[in-house]
Amino acid sequence: MSARRQPVLGVLGGGQLARMLALAAVPLGVNTLVVDSSADACAGQVAPLVVADWTDYAALEAFAARVDVVTFDFENVPAETAHWLAGRVAVYPAPQALAVAQDRLAEKTLFRECGLPTPDFMTVDTREQLDLALATVGAPAILKTRRLGYDGKGQFRLRGLADADAAWAALGAQASKHGLIMEAFVPFERELSVIAVRGRDGDFRIWPLTRNWHVDGVLSMSLAPAPDIEQLQQRAAELARTLAERLDYVGVFALELFVKDGKLLGNEMAPRVHNSGHWTIEGAHTSQFENHVRAVLGLPLGDTGARGMSAMFNWIGDLPDASPVLQAIDAHWHDYGKQARPGRKVGHATVCASDVGELAARLATVGDALGRETQVAPVLQALG
Ligand code: AMP
Repeated sequence: MSARRQPVLGVLGGGQLARMLALAAVPLGVNTLVVDSSADACAGQVAPLVVADWTDYAALEAFAARVDVVTFDFENVPAETAHWLAGRVAVYPAPQALAVAQDRLAEKTLFRECGLPTPDFMTVDTREQLDLALATVGAPAILKTRRLGYDGKGQFRLRGLADADAAWAALGAQASKHGLIMEAFVPFERELSVIAVRGRDGDFRIWPLTRNWHVDGVLSMSLAPAPDIEQLQQRAAELARTLAERLDYVGVFALELFVKDGKLLGNEMAPRVHNSGHWTIEGAHTSQFENHVRAVLGLPLGDTGARGMSAMFNWIGDLPDASPVLQAIDAHWHDYGKQARPGRKVGHATVCASDVGELAARLATVGDALGRETQVAPVLQALG
């Protein structure tokens, strides 16, 4: 009898997303192999790690020979590397889908083609165009790099024309390399995200919508299922499905949305598992990580229903004391095994409950014990 061989999932990028993918792969009998340019990438604590950069084709050739399928924890893997790998091994999502999500202009153009309005925007390649773009989209506005921006990085907020020089000083050097885009600042009522998954066979599912709060462009708290969004859930699901089918997308992705005057506007799409879907680990029947592994390996997708209500705290910079979370009922601690550093995502905690009242009480208790009253306040307010 020949030895049973376990499938191997290859992941490009070795951060916390790769780490949580590797953990979700274990019960499925799937092994994970990670590539990252840094030897201390935190996924390397739970899965074997190949240390190589994106142009080390000898290392990537050896990596491709050891895996059954390749996916991403990091969407800014160069398109050439993704295409090169796709010539050797199955890569999901496909490099063409990745390319759209890597460029804010291509992404917003696709949103509009799929019937999802976006904030007004204009591309900016020169200092003169910056003034023109600001006059066209109106102040306040946000100047963003078209590529390689995430978590509020590569962004500059302008209150008016007086900020134009400072914005150009901050991002002008990126204009020729990556291109810039000026977006109208949306005074949104809420931020929502759709976490969706599409299988190799086209099976499509979404988790209940998540409501998100950002601080300085970085996710601070998530709440799911987002309360009071009954009319938006179906529209968001239709839009996510249209996008996924247009891109022939395979795997999990996130669609980040603003709600303005009760209507949805598209902000961005992340072609991977997403921070605002971390609550699904304990709060849904199947987590985003498990369904991503299932999708890219061509396995049947799991139920995306919520078990109850969940709220997630993001730990940015450093971890608070774990005890209040460890002591609370149905609260879950995630330490990514990273060194503390300002602005770095180092962990999260999810508090689950069977209904809104129970969640509010549990969150208030945990938030107080952690000294994080300000962080939980908007969620408690949303829970009424
Ligand atoms: P992004 O990296 O584009 O997702 O931006 C990070 C966060 O900055 C968003 O989740 C919003 O909270 C805020 N933001 C980005 N673009 C806009 C915009 N056009 N209007 C208002 N807020 C924005």
